[in-house]
Amino acid sequence: MDDAPGVLCVHAHPDDESISTGGVLRLAADRGFRTAVVTCTGGERGEVFGAGMDPAEVGPRLPEVRREELVRALDVLGAGPPRWLGYRDSGMAGTDGNDDPASFWRADVDEAVGRLVAHVREFRPDVLVTYDPYGGYGHPDHVQAHRVGLLAAEASAVPALYPQAGEAWRVVKVYLATIPKSAIAVWARELAARGLPSPFEDVGHVDHIPMGTPDEHVTTVVDVRAVLDIKMTALRAHASQLAPDSFFLNIPDDLRATAFGAEWFARLRSDVVVPDGEDDLFAGLDHR
Ligand SMILES: [Zn+2]
Repeated sequence: MDDAPGVLCVHAHPDDESISTGGVLRLAADRGFRTAVVTCTGGERGEVFGAGMDPAEVGPRLPEVRREELVRALDVLGAGPPRWLGYRDSGMAGTDGNDDPASFWRADVDEAVGRLVAHVREFRPDVLVTYDPYGGYGHPDHVQAHRVGLLAAEASAVPALYPQAGEAWRVVKVYLATIPKSAIAVWARELAARGLPSPFEDVGHVDHIPMGTPDEHVTTVVDVRAVLDIKMTALRAHASQLAPDSFFLNIPDDLRATAFGAEWFARLRSDVVVPDGEDDLFAGLDHR
């Protein structure tokens, strides 16, 4: 089991692991592969949206609530116990949290990379996943996770860097979790046509927003429909973050597979030969 291939996903907040990599994590676990999630912040600045939750009551203990929610979601995904990087949620761009000295956005990048390198060298993943440069949707903690994730993926292999963080380990494949522009266009059109809550309400043309990756740069599409119900169960474990009118909870059944049945990645580096039209983050690893 310890020799099994491993994937480590670097995420910003509790719930991100389920939204963007819940399928690949569950599929990997089902194949007997090793899986882990590093969560950079506690999500302390999330709002309390959950049905039946009183923000005045839940708000003050939100960090604890979100820790418990992450434990449950990772359990559903078979992704082990939480691994925390130990920073505070920076809040949405332009909010006060961006200036909090304990926030991930204000973190000393060298220090943050060292912390993540320690997780990489301890878990020894073959595959490391982080976000695209826009962090998926522009949240400062996601942008920072991209920077720290990429630096740690490379620094882990260099013995002279962070020598106190463990024995050097070379990650074989590095990916950015992303969304192709074409998928955003489909969601925006379908949700608008049905009058449903949409994160894309203000989208004119997808080429005019910073979110998403041009389709030609998306190297790897993983079909996760076989574990879609489990992925949604993991997402629902983050109850405090899901308003009753949430996009995630209200997607019609016939759109669910379109919206959440694929997970998309841009491969940044691979030390092994991979097929064109790759559909598996672990492709090529058995040929080493
Ligand atoms: Zn997030």
